[in-house]
Amino acid sequence: MKYYSTRNRNEPVNFAEAALTGLAPDGGLFVPGEIPSFPAAVKSSLGTMDFRDIALETIRPYVREDIPDAVLADLIQSAYPFGAPLVEAGDRLVLELFHGPTAAFKDFGARFMARAFSYLRRHEDRPLRILVATSGDTGGAVADGFFGVEGISVTVLYPRGRVTPLQERQIAALGGNIDALAVEGSFDDCQALVKAAFADEALRKRLVLSSANSINVARLIPQAVYYAAASGRAFAGLVDGDGAATPRIPGSGPAARSRMKGREPVMAVPSGNFGNLTAGLYAKEMGAPIAFFIAATNINKTVPDYLESGVYEARTSQATISNAMDVGAPSNFERMAAHWSWETMRFLVRGASVTDGETRETIERVHQDHGYYLDPHGAVGLKAADLLAGALGGAGPLAVLATAHPAKFSETVEPLTGPVPVPDSLRRVMDREPRSRVIPADSGVLRELL
Ligand SMILES: *Cc1c(COP(=O)(O)O)cnc(C)c1O
Repeated sequence: MKYYSTRNRNEPVNFAEAALTGLAPDGGLFVPGEIPSFPAAVKSSLGTMDFRDIALETIRPYVREDIPDAVLADLIQSAYPFGAPLVEAGDRLVLELFHGPTAAFKDFGARFMARAFSYLRRHEDRPLRILVATSGDTGGAVADGFFGVEGISVTVLYPRGRVTPLQERQIAALGGNIDALAVEGSFDDCQALVKAAFADEALRKRLVLSSANSINVARLIPQAVYYAAASGRAFAGLVDGDGAATPRIPGSGPAARSRMKGREPVMAVPSGNFGNLTAGLYAKEMGAPIAFFIAATNINKTVPDYLESGVYEARTSQATISNAMDVGAPSNFERMAAHWSWETMRFLVRGASVTDGETRETIERVHQDHGYYLDPHGAVGLKAADLLAGALGGAGPLAVLATAHPAKFSETVEPLTGPVPVPDSLRRVMDREPRSRVIPADSGVLRELL
């Protein structure tokens, strides 16, 4: 597979280079030259295959020239001791993406990326510095994924005071090869600082830099896996038993199975930087049985507005209770636009934006009606689907991606639902002390620190 910059189709690179450089030298994002298709035999058995086998089939064509199959299989086994159960909450399906160590979907991308980097750099002796800007969950997932990985250090930049105490601990309490910087500014400022560091020729001569944001293809591609797995299961008329960490009131069993079999699900994706949704589009292009997507945003609705008007207008982000989606200038939009025209995108993706008030109402209602605890991001997804319900008409079953465990956002969720069951992984983190350095949103200061 060849990869190209979104800004230049003339200089192909291989997967290793696209992954290890992160951002293309011209400032573009790497995209695969083509989106492969699942072999027919795989496509027809997605519903019953093991998650790790689906991961192998999904990721392999993108990395084949750089990672041998046997190595890839090992990477996947080690990255995903957990899966992504598809459970029922009333007549909706919830794809639970929070069963990994940091209890958010970013574990899927970050854990694969860390292992891929380690393998791809096995003959290098210069240390690698990963720079990552986070609005909350990326930092924890990347820090956890890379913690203790030899020859790689990580600097995480997060907006001071705009992440939850738990997120801050996941980012800043590991120590070791993980540095945490609390930036006086917004997530967009953090992202701008990282971009400035990458554009700094002098700095890049002294340090081997890479990114771990959702702009990195090595994080993006493994996120296609759970779309293939979940849509395959829904299409086969199957759902999973509740997982151990499923935040449900005991005894509140699922409603009668809706007539799902043989119908492609609509997938509602709570979105910020649009890495998750882009990966979903890859999965659909590969042949996963997905009808279309709902781009669910909070009031930072740059993409829903674009889908409506055809005009892309980046904005300053506004703070909300679904803070991992407080993004006014989604970095993966450039990648989506490189693959699909506005006309095509409107066909593949419907947009809806949700207020904090609606998000709270949804958390409360779903808990009351179904005994299921949604986090604010998943609630945005479900509400967006409700808002579009009229337009969905006879579409297939609706699957909402629950991108974080509600216990990560207990400050918001518990006043609406009462105490939320806390998974063991989160319990352990809360006992740690965060240690981060506060810096102004100034690229000169970052350069000095690095
Ligand atoms: C990062 C994140 C999102 C947004 O994902 P994108 O890929 O940036 O669109 C949604 N929910 C949670 C919990 C997140 O951590």
